[in-house]
Amino acid sequence: MAPRKLAAGNWKMNGTLAALDQIDQLLADLPAAGCDVLICSPATLVHPMVVRAAGKLAVGGQDCHAKASGAHTGDIAAAQLADAGASHVILGHSERRTDHAETDAQVAAKSLAAHDAGLIAVICVGETEAQRDAGETLDVIAAQLAGSIPDGATATNTVIAYEPVWAIGTGRTPTNDQIAEVHALMRDRLSARFADGADMALLYGGSVKPGNAAEIFAIPHVNGALVGGASLKAADFGPIISALS
Ligand code: PEP
Repeated sequence: MAPRKLAAGNWKMNGTLAALDQIDQLLADLPAAGCDVLICSPATLVHPMVVRAAGKLAVGGQDCHAKASGAHTGDIAAAQLADAGASHVILGHSERRTDHAETDAQVAAKSLAAHDAGLIAVICVGETEAQRDAGETLDVIAAQLAGSIPDGATATNTVIAYEPVWAIGTGRTPTNDQIAEVHALMRDRLSARFADGADMALLYGGSVKPGNAAEIFAIPHVNGALVGGASLKAADFGPIISALS
């Protein structure tokens, strides 16, 4: 089995019910996407988006707690996301790692909880600009992969997103060679550790736009994208999906 191609949107803390009009537009413009399409919405929109999408695209959350339930005010359990109709959850996004000081171990624990609830974990890794400038990128990515992906991960329940922190929301992207180098490392490490690691989908994320998507998707071991800002509008996300299809 080859890795499945996935165009994933991350709406972050954006969108109210009115934004679901974008789902209608996206579906109207893309009757037959040749790849999987996912939007990870704010928790409040997961169920309404599932209803609106009517099975034509997948809906995910943006975080979950490592525990199945309990006294954790403001948090959300993986099973609650699944109950709302989510199929995926983003874990270890750099904004979570920065804003909430999430560690690799916590990301791994959350990923296990996601798997237990039947969700696909979209686990994010990525170096800071200082780490890249210091020549530490490959070591950082290897350590994040080792620490953030739990044993038991498979190509069916896990997707990995390489998102250089300095490329998120900045309009800056690594060179194609830099993306290729990291994706090759990820493929090697995953293949060495997991029986079906060669089949795990690897996404690139960080300022993917309609204008650069095709070039990025042509890079070896890039099986799709995790898209922030450009996933909010169907007019931007649609062409990115088409470039992957
Ligand atoms: C993201 O939030 O995961 C992301 C990649 O954002 P952007 O596409 O806006 O850089």
